[in-house]
Amino acid sequence: MNPLLEIFSQGEELVTGQIVDTNAAWLSQQAVAMGFTVTRHTAVGDNLSELVSLLVDIAQRADCCICTGGLGPTSDDLTALAVSEAFNCPLIFDAEAYEQIAQFFAIRQRDMPASNRKQALLPQGAERIDNHWGTAPGFSLQYGRCWFVFLPGVPMEMKHLFQEQILATLPQRFALQPGLLITFKTFGAGESALQVLINNIEIPASVHLGFRAGTDDVHIKLLFPAAYSRQKMMALIDNFKAQLGEFVFAIDGLGVATGDLAFEINKQMIVRQTSLAVLETLSHGLLAAKCMGYDWLLSASYQPLKFEPEPNIDLMVVAKAIAYEQQKLTTADYVLVQLYAGDKECLNNTEKTIELYTVLLTDTGFQRVSHLIAGSIQRKQNQAALLSLDLLRRYLDARSC
Ligand code: ATP
Ligand code: MG
Repeated sequence: MNPLLEIFSQGEELVTGQIVDTNAAWLSQQAVAMGFTVTRHTAVGDNLSELVSLLVDIAQRADCCICTGGLGPTSDDLTALAVSEAFNCPLIFDAEAYEQIAQFFAIRQRDMPASNRKQALLPQGAERIDNHWGTAPGFSLQYGRCWFVFLPGVPMEMKHLFQEQILATLPQRFALQPGLLITFKTFGAGESALQVLINNIEIPASVHLGFRAGTDDVHIKLLFPAAYSRQKMMALIDNFKAQLGEFVFAIDGLGVATGDLAFEINKQMIVRQTSLAVLETLSHGLLAAKCMGYDWLLSASYQPLKFEPEPNIDLMVVAKAIAYEQQKLTTADYVLVQLYAGDKECLNNTEKTIELYTVLLTDTGFQRVSHLIAGSIQRKQNQAALLSLDLLRRYLDARSC
């Protein structure tokens, strides 16, 4: 059985909804990937008795607990005090921690406020976790069946301390058997349509299937147990690939780094040494922004072009003419051109759809697609950027087969 891990986040800002608990989400992903079973996430405000009773409970039911926040210098930072009360261990002044905090201020040529001394008070028996990124040292200690790790709340500091000082010790403390998580990243079909495509695949009971629908893509996840046969796993992955077809733009978990649509396009554009020019309308510059940092995007321009859908206008003829013109102007190998049918009212009206036309000019001629896009103006913008990028991605995928 996997060791049980809980995550506990401290701070009034969390329970009052002023900040979102990204620490717990990030830590959970790390812990699950390592082979822990994460049983709970809890957030507690600045309330000493709540903190104390939670710590006492966790010590009895979890094997490991990672806690973030509440290590700061102010009176609302209560973690060390709560540990001291929960586990009957007095707070002891740690001269080395104090020296490190003093150094933090000295390097920045700032006076150290007296309140920072509080951060050098650690529960007796705790092991200090040095913090080179901020003032609050973390600490760890065993109590009951549980090994507790306390980290600062600031996400950047928390991640550094976890990765540099905790990660490597976990497999030494716990018998971890990480499973293998395979993620199919898809674009162009909703969760339910994807479910239908894979309905006929027989998934062994020991393999866990999950879906995650985001704004930009839908992920289908397969979690394989540690000892699962590699051959059977690859056969199942191939089966998924075949059924999901061109909706899949990347498969994560097989040892190759994957990213979003633009990241996957980037891989192929580099191999082909191909450049791109884009002329955006409905995506209002977002398509170019999604390609930020990639050298193959030679030129990007935005024009608020729109056309009333009149029967005597062939939008494709218009789009092709624009694409040729852009190619001449920019000397790019490929050109993506967006046009849309609809008036300003369609843009702002969530009830009304806009018809987006995307044309891709390449060395082998034209690809084109048209889509109806509904929703808020932001959704229309985002979908337009993604749908146009996906036309390019599909073209590149088809050519690489
Ligand atoms: P500090 O020395 O900065 O006070 P701390 O350990 O006391 O460190 P907190 O005061 O709890 O940490 O949080 C500091 C800041 O870090 C918060 O204002 C918030 O912006 C961020 N933060 C804290 N906890 C979380 C969390 N769970 N998820 C995301 N951000 C967080
Ligand atoms: Mg604080």
